[in-house]
Amino acid sequence: MTAKQETTIEMHCESCGMVTNEQGEYCQYCVDENGQLRPYEEVFAKMERWLARVEPTLSHEQIAQKTKNYMATMPEWRGRDEI
Ligand SMILES: [Zn+2]
Repeated sequence: MTAKQETTIEMHCESCGMVTNEQGEYCQYCVDENGQLRPYEEVFAKMERWLARVEPTLSHEQIAQKTKNYMATMPEWRGRDEI
């Protein structure tokens, strides 16, 4: 029996943490049509909208706080605590 070692390299977007199999540091949602990283405010807004969908019971303030906390853990935005 030959067990072939399967090595799946999981890349994570440095901006939002989403798993991306594409090359590059960022996922398709965090870059614009030219492949440039979107500004913090735009990524933040996108993430808020996403979170509002997956956690519909949260208030807007809770969503904003969670988004801020989450983005502070991302390599790209680490250290930022203000928009
Ligand atoms: Zn991303």
